[in-house]
Amino acid sequence: MEIDHKDGDKNNDDEGNLAHACYACNNAKSDVFTDVEFERMGEVIRQIYHKRAKKKGFHLTEDPNSK
Ligand SMILES: [Zn+2]
Repeated sequence: MEIDHKDGDKNNDDEGNLAHACYACNNAKSDVFTDVEFERMGEVIRQIYHKRAKKKGFHLTEDPNSK
C-alpha cells in the first residue's frame, strides 16, 4: 500500500487529506481525479484483484461481488 493525497494537493499532508491506496489506484488516480471521483474506478480495480486472488486460491475477506 501507498499513501495518497485525497485532493491531489501534494503540499497538503494533513491527516484528513491522506489515505492508503494500492499502487494501481494511486497511479491511476494521480492528481487528475478527486478521491470521490475515483471511487467507481477503484471499485473496478478492487474487483480485478479479487478475481486474480481467487484464481490463485486466496480468499480475501472483503469480497466486492458479495454486495
Ligand atoms: Zn486500489
